[in-house]
Amino acid sequence: MPEPLHTLLPRLRAICGEDGVITDTARRRTYESDGITYHAALPGVVVLPTSTAQVAAVLGLCAEHGVPFVPRGAGTGLSAGALPHTEGVLVVTSRMRSILEIDIANERAVVQPGVANLDITRAAAPHGYYYAPDPSSQQVCSVGGNIAENSGGAHCLKYGFTVNHVLGLEVVTPAGEVVRLGGKAADAPGYDLLGAFIGSEGTLGVATEITVRLMRAPQKVRTLLAAFETMDAGGAAVSAIIAAGVLPAAVEMMDALSIEAAEAAVACGYPSGAGAVLIVELDGPAADVDAQFEEVAALCRAEGAFEIRTASDAAERARIWKGRKSAFAAVGRISPAYIVQDGVVPRTALPEVLRRIAELSAESGIRVANVFHAGDGNLHPLVLFDDAEPGAPERAAEVSGAILDLCIEHGGSITGEHGVGVDKACHMPEMFTPADLETMDLFRGAFDPAGIANPEKLLPTPRLCGERPGVRKGVHPLVERGAAEQF
Ligand SMILES: Cc1cc2nc3c(=O)[nH]c(=O)nc-3n(C[C@H](O)[C@H](O)[C@H](O)COP(=O)(O)OP(=O)(O)OC[C@H]3O[C@@H](n4cnc5c(N)ncnc54)[C@H](O)[C@@H]3O)c2cc1C
Repeated sequence: MPEPLHTLLPRLRAICGEDGVITDTARRRTYESDGITYHAALPGVVVLPTSTAQVAAVLGLCAEHGVPFVPRGAGTGLSAGALPHTEGVLVVTSRMRSILEIDIANERAVVQPGVANLDITRAAAPHGYYYAPDPSSQQVCSVGGNIAENSGGAHCLKYGFTVNHVLGLEVVTPAGEVVRLGGKAADAPGYDLLGAFIGSEGTLGVATEITVRLMRAPQKVRTLLAAFETMDAGGAAVSAIIAAGVLPAAVEMMDALSIEAAEAAVACGYPSGAGAVLIVELDGPAADVDAQFEEVAALCRAEGAFEIRTASDAAERARIWKGRKSAFAAVGRISPAYIVQDGVVPRTALPEVLRRIAELSAESGIRVANVFHAGDGNLHPLVLFDDAEPGAPERAAEVSGAILDLCIEHGGSITGEHGVGVDKACHMPEMFTPADLETMDLFRGAFDPAGIANPEKLLPTPRLCGERPGVRKGVHPLVERGAAEQF
């Protein structure tokens, strides 16, 4: 273990207890990567605090000795944001899992950061409420991680991302100070530091208590599957639905390759011959949902849907979602390796960007399957390749990078919901000028003048450039265990 971590150990043990400090190599190794195992590093030391006071004492100690720290929730991130620092302290929130308050009268919940996203909904459900942001990893990912990544999910089209559902945070700054941003009330005066913290990827400190908005469960949910001959026709239907003033809870699209993979893996029975499948879910008051449902079906038909299936109860809805929910894992079965890309474009640019992705695929001989949140313009292209074939990983990485370039060219961004982390830090200069990046660095420095909070993440450093993006081989372990779905 590097110095000065050795000298800090007695004090870390005094803060977190003997069993709250992990030093042996085998146990530290279990924390060496997040969901992108391609990036791995052995943490210097791992601590498992149970309270804000313990986090504050640990970060205070790090500040005193200039030791870097990396916050970590459940480690499901897909941008290597929680990649440990070999000479630093990994602060893991897995023992901070209490739901502190369910305040139905004010439609709020107060939780510790290690609480799993879905556990908020589980706690609120008996009262007829739920927590809206729903990343597909929601059974396991932590609310602290969701805040750091500003996570999204299939239903964020209508309800917004994490940032729209967090009202207050208790945060330990990199100096070890405990501060409060926002609160239970709707708006706080002054600069929006709460908004700035959300999506800051662990670079501004550690969130130790989180106040979120609870939503009343909708009276009715209905789901529709529409099959089109082409992606263009499916895309036109998405535009028509939105233009008609209908705001679905979710609009998801799959292309022919991902349908083929889902069919092979789970026999989802989607209409044969479909070049695109659209899943549209509506929720809200029963009368509105029923009226809008007919309208959506008519719009899909008008844009060329050759088959429409509808679902009204949970079992029928699950049948429609089955192919979509298994698509990522299924793609893992038809390709030895793949890169999960995450980019976003304005919705209107989707048809053009998808056409260009198809051209890139044809030119390079690298297959790309598209499964995505069409309503948000959030693309998750899966770049498939055989890592045993000489040159294929490099070509796949090039296609993957070129897709991000396309997103930027079309007014979008290099990440839709998975964050920048280490994995995409090198792409930041493609989106931002040196002056932009310097401004972000200044902002970061205001919280963390010593540069010890999750260093080398989010903003590029030369050391990171040239690293290849994360490559996934086979099905994600969480998906395989049934602990997460992959959207
Ligand atoms: C199968 C699968 C499906 C997924 N689906 C989605 C999806 O639909 N939508 C989506 O947005 N993402 C998705 N993800 C990505 C991932 O689950 C999210 O980014 C999630 O928010 C990460 O949470 P975590 O607790 O695992 O965080 P970690 O991976 O542990 O950490 C992520 C980042 O948060 C920081 N961090 C963690 N806790 C704190 C804290 N308390 N304070 C400050 N910083 C902190 C870390 O330093 C790191 O930068 C998926 C991942 C998998 C594996």
